[in-house]
Amino acid sequence: MEHVQVLIAGGGIGGLSAAIWCRRLGLSCLLLESKDVLGGQLSQIHNEIPDFPPRVYPNGTALLEELLGHPVIRQLRPRLGETILRIDANTHEVHTSHQVYRADYLIIATGVSPNIIPALADCPRVLSPWFSTTSQAATVKGQDIAVIGGGDRALESASNLSPYARHMYLLVRSDHLRARSEWVDRVNRLPNLQIMWHTEVERYSMENDRIQLELRSEKKEAPNSITVDWVLPRIGVRGNSQAFASLPVFDEHYLQTDQTQRSVPEWIYAIGDVANGAAYSSISLAVGQAMKAVKHISLGLQQQPEYE
Ligand SMILES: Cc1cc2nc3c(=O)[nH]c(=O)nc-3n(C[C@H](O)[C@H](O)[C@H](O)COP(=O)(O)OP(=O)(O)OC[C@H]3O[C@@H](n4cnc5c(N)ncnc54)[C@H](O)[C@@H]3O)c2cc1C
Repeated sequence: MEHVQVLIAGGGIGGLSAAIWCRRLGLSCLLLESKDVLGGQLSQIHNEIPDFPPRVYPNGTALLEELLGHPVIRQLRPRLGETILRIDANTHEVHTSHQVYRADYLIIATGVSPNIIPALADCPRVLSPWFSTTSQAATVKGQDIAVIGGGDRALESASNLSPYARHMYLLVRSDHLRARSEWVDRVNRLPNLQIMWHTEVERYSMENDRIQLELRSEKKEAPNSITVDWVLPRIGVRGNSQAFASLPVFDEHYLQTDQTQRSVPEWIYAIGDVANGAAYSSISLAVGQAMKAVKHISLGLQQQPEYE
């Protein structure tokens, strides 16, 4: 069994920052990333990033390119395509898709994934959860689109797509919009948007290249189905915590930590989006938490008597 001092789960900006801090504080680390590329959500950010000072990045790819050029990251030798499947909290064992490690410390930086709608699984006319309604809106020009969701991202998407789309539907499960009032005001003024309350997608069928959505609604007068060219689900994200089922969580999928990013048991830390919940998801927080976790590990090691 391979022994690792600090095992880092996830190669987004949180995990990569943790690796930089490990090098800085003299800890040896190994980073595992389930995808074949590093960067996590950074490559999905098509908007300008004005809040990771001092630079304003035109998009996440620009930030990622700079990050991959960092001297520590260039020498990192991460293991790509290797997924952490489960851990044994008592034995310090970390089971992955490839092997079992014994880690003195584990830093979990596995981020979040978009929620999916089971009824639309495999549907070819569902836009990717990472579809950018700013830079890619022109690709759906003149088409009919159903956006699903009632939060900020759903309303922002509807608002961005409206000038390009022919007709738009906003399918909302409840009878109100959770989004901030500025977005609600904006969508209420969109000329080509129809909001369908209390509505859920039950199943779909294809009609040539268009998709017919069978709907379930509490409202008797609501239509049973609509036909559109594209569906864009915007129903939030969930923490990638499945592999760490024994750890304490909040909001079902996010890992609970203390002030130093430490979980229970004490050899496990969680940083970045998987520990922050959707409301506090941010690059700067993930980077800061990486410092906190690694520094706490380092300080703890300095205080340990030599015979331990
Ligand atoms: C469209 C969009 C725009 C955004 N705009 C901004 C912005 O302007 N400013 C800002 O501050 N933030 C922004 N964010 C949020 C920001 O991108 C995230 O807060 C940040 O990237 C989180 O980094 P992370 O390392 O915690 O997680 P992630 O980037 O999600 O990385 C997690 C990594 O872990 C890997 N992984 C998951 N499970 C496992 C496993 N079991 N084993 C191994 N690896 C695993 C994943 O493949 C992924 O690579 C935006 C996000 C999006 C999607």
